[in-house]
Amino acid sequence: MQTQVGIIGAGPAGLLLSQMLHLRGIESVIIESRSRDAIEATIRAGVLEQSTVDLMVEIGAGERLKREGFVHHGIELRFGGRGHRINLHDLANGRTITVYAQHEVLKDLIALRLRTGGVIHFEKPLDEKLEVELIFHISKSTIRGKAQMLFPMWATQGWMQPFRFVDLSDENRHSLDINLKSFLGETAKGAAAGA
Ligand SMILES: Cc1cc2nc3c(=O)[nH]c(=O)nc-3n(C[C@H](O)[C@H](O)[C@H](O)COP(=O)(O)OP(=O)(O)OC[C@H]3O[C@@H](n4cnc5c(N)ncnc54)[C@H](O)[C@@H]3O)c2cc1C
Repeated sequence: MQTQVGIIGAGPAGLLLSQMLHLRGIESVIIESRSRDAIEATIRAGVLEQSTVDLMVEIGAGERLKREGFVHHGIELRFGGRGHRINLHDLANGRTITVYAQHEVLKDLIALRLRTGGVIHFEKPLDEKLEVELIFHISKSTIRGKAQMLFPMWATQGWMQPFRFVDLSDENRHSLDINLKSFLGETAKGAAAGA
């Protein structure tokens, strides 16, 4: 399997990213450990912020959300025998939240991704011992090498996927080391300047 970007997980983040890349002409493949049925039936979030709704509309996944989502304009607090309306819509300059379940978002994103030629492999975990080709583009260097996955991503609560290169030449290892150190140094300087 060859692609420009490999995405682990068909959650909202992975699916949105895949569609956004597609709209910019960049191909990707998503691998997802669970089945499509399981993903589309798991109840999680129920409320979408305005920026999420805007993004869904922008990438072409907002049609059902706009039709079926329940836009929440405010709340009413009751005390002293009276109701007090808090108009969150006006207080937030017209921004609102929309009640629309996450599994409905996932149904829409999966359908859109497949309709627009996206590739999603369900029930295919990126698991221990699996080998993939990794390509690092750092500054002007491109370094590629075969890597073996170590323990699965869920063991780090989804934060990172540890791997080890299995065929990286000494020259590429050295170059990668220098480039990554320089990149991390720049990032740290940027973070310190912004702090
Ligand atoms: C009960 C609950 C209520 C919530 N309510 C809200 C809310 O109202 N509003 C809101 O904005 N957010 C809410 N959230 C948070 C929201 O659900 C998450 O922010 C969102 O799911 C994160 O999306 P994600 O794509 O980053 O990760 P996930 O949704 O976790 O998707 C990651 C995907 O990757 C797959 N995966 C993991 N490891 C591997 C592997 N090694 N190989 C292959 N596939 C893998 C998983 O199966 C999963 O499908 C709620 C969360 C919960 C649990």
